[in-house]
Amino acid sequence: MPKSSNNANPRAAADVPKTGTKSSANTRAKTEPAKTKRSSATGASTPATNRRRAPFTVAGHQVTAGRRMRIELPIGNLMSGTPVALPLIVVHGKHDGPVVWMSAAIHGDEICGVEIIRQVLDQINAPSLHGTIIAAPVVNVHGFNTNDRYLPDRRDLNRCFPGSSRGSLASRIASLFMTEVVSRSDIGIDLHTGSDLRTNLPQIRCDIDHAPTLAIARVFGAPIVVDARLRDGSLRQAAVEAGKVSLLFEGGEASRFDPAAIAVGVAGVIRSLNHLGLTDLPVPVADAPLFSRQTWWSRASRSGIVHLDARLGDQVTKGDRLAAIYDPFGKVLGEVKSKYDGVVLGHTQAPLVNRGDAISHVARIMAEPPTPGWAVPGSIDGEEAVS
Ligand SMILES: [Zn+2]
Repeated sequence: MPKSSNNANPRAAADVPKTGTKSSANTRAKTEPAKTKRSSATGASTPATNRRRAPFTVAGHQVTAGRRMRIELPIGNLMSGTPVALPLIVVHGKHDGPVVWMSAAIHGDEICGVEIIRQVLDQINAPSLHGTIIAAPVVNVHGFNTNDRYLPDRRDLNRCFPGSSRGSLASRIASLFMTEVVSRSDIGIDLHTGSDLRTNLPQIRCDIDHAPTLAIARVFGAPIVVDARLRDGSLRQAAVEAGKVSLLFEGGEASRFDPAAIAVGVAGVIRSLNHLGLTDLPVPVADAPLFSRQTWWSRASRSGIVHLDARLGDQVTKGDRLAAIYDPFGKVLGEVKSKYDGVVLGHTQAPLVNRGDAISHVARIMAEPPTPGWAVPGSIDGEEAVS
């Protein structure tokens, strides 16, 4: 039974499901039988209550307590006329609790989060769930199907929130996602990877000065938590402005499954769900994360062939060589050195670079972990991670 008594449960159940929105006649939904496979360790039944939890409504579909349902949100047609839908899985627990969304592939080629959501859902048992999960593994459906970060009009979906039902395709998808997913949720975790040809150390990016957010960031258990400014048009910004707790997980690179990053993501989401009281699933204990308020991308001083000296997670000191740039015959053309003591947060995966290309992303580590509510203006040097 979930340990609701000693878990931080940020919202009372009463304000969780927002039902009664107008029905979308064209949405398609398929009810799947609730999973029953987990038993002894995690699926122990709770004391019976006479009150049955109200159904959860998404896009006009009602999900009964203790069931999971696949719902497809129509987002128009392909130019060939084929309908396109944004797929959701809603798991509506039998027991009261918060509503949590998980989203992935807002950047269509960032597929590690799709696998993280699949593995998390595989462990979720609706009858024993305390709360509700809305899983959106493929938010940018167009980009996912063409292995593209963007939408067909080259817009970045994660710069189009909260969107508009009368705007561009990206803006309409953002608006639909806000209406049907974010507005019905209390907390969200958006899953990303590095952008094309960049890889990232598994990390949480969030506002570490917001105590409820910091609490989840800590229990998630990624190796590092980076204080990240809100970006205009991002899902995280729109969600925070809508009063939601929102975190972003980064790990691995685009267009690849990174097993290590996926494992950190799966364990972190499970730890978060346990912390919020939705589940009580077994998960390894994580080391306390490092924290950073300051990160910096080093850049190639010359064009050439790059060889990295420091890899993801390596600790470096100021002046350490992060990479060297060679000509095709092995002559050293330039070196890239660390601007300060820190940890390698990300780096290029490209063997060939032009002068000015980003090479290594280093995070300066805070000497002391942050205290909830302790506010110091954040500072990000140079280019922020493209995630
Ligand atoms: Zn991304």
